[in-house]
Amino acid sequence: MNSKKKLIAGNWKMNGGLAANEALLKAIIAGLGDGAACDVAVAVPAPYLAQVQSLTFGSAVAVASQDVSQHEAGAFTGEMSVAMLKDFGVRYALVGHSERRQYHGESDVVVAEKAQRALAAGLTPIICVGETLQEREAGQTEAVVKRQLAAVIHLNGHCISEVVVAYEPVWAIGTGRTASPEQAQAVHAVLRAQLSAASEHADRIRLLYGGSMNAANAAQLLAQPDIDGGLVGGASLKAPDFLQIIAAAR
Ligand code: PEP
Repeated sequence: MNSKKKLIAGNWKMNGGLAANEALLKAIIAGLGDGAACDVAVAVPAPYLAQVQSLTFGSAVAVASQDVSQHEAGAFTGEMSVAMLKDFGVRYALVGHSERRQYHGESDVVVAEKAQRALAAGLTPIICVGETLQEREAGQTEAVVKRQLAAVIHLNGHCISEVVVAYEPVWAIGTGRTASPEQAQAVHAVLRAQLSAASEHADRIRLLYGGSMNAANAAQLLAQPDIDGGLVGGASLKAPDFLQIIAAAR
């Protein structure tokens, strides 16, 4: 068992609205009371960063973005730079979420550039890796996640221990189909071994599990020795569920 603080990060995806965000965050912050045993973050749609920054100010909830540009500034319509994110108190940036890889064609190289850009600006990238159902059924899970992690393992001038890695089997995201604790732990152990080979500080790196984590299955997943938190989609939109997951992350 390792002793680092777990991290529970909600990913709102393209959900929310001014009124709904306020109700959700107020309920989460009230539910946390004096704080949480773990670190907590919410990755929110970009238009709501200012609102979420102000609602979470002084609370235990950190602000995360769902993406970040690999470019510094300039003619990149629709993109968000690290400097812009920092203006709104963003602390973590999701990088390489499978929906970005799938629908926006983000390659391992782009994911690495984004992670690099985030780190250079002092944001912590939450780098997502994971296999599709087809890849799992073809026995390629290990090879796929190792390839995705290898792309980010040597980030110029940065120690890999500064990142967070999220294992998110694509077949478990938004499907209600969760990896069993044993399946998830097996892949986390592979990732930990790969990180250990690259850095003497691998044990400091938080490895999150994501994929239909919910109030009912979180405790068992989070009890696995190499699962250091969760990246939570659907269940992060319901305060009671998100709070139960946070409570399970001790
Ligand atoms: C996610 O979006 O990263 C995710 C894990 O979603 P869900 O929890 O809904 O499967």
